[in-house]
Amino acid sequence: MAQMSRQQLEIRLKQIDASLAQWDAGNYGICRHCKGPIRVERLEILPEAPFCMACQEGFES
Ligand SMILES: [Zn+2]
Repeated sequence: MAQMSRQQLEIRLKQIDASLAQWDAGNYGICRHCKGPIRVERLEILPEAPFCMACQEGFES
């Protein structure tokens, strides 16, 4: 596993926290940007992913 800075870890924890809140609200697996479903394959790799693949790629490019 690549080395993570404390800041990266904090961001990841916040995303996990937000995912748990989404789960409680019944919104887990829904992209926070386009409100579309996030693919299960993506959630298996990155369970705390807040955005679907298309939105994430849009942010990064
Ligand atoms: Zn999206």
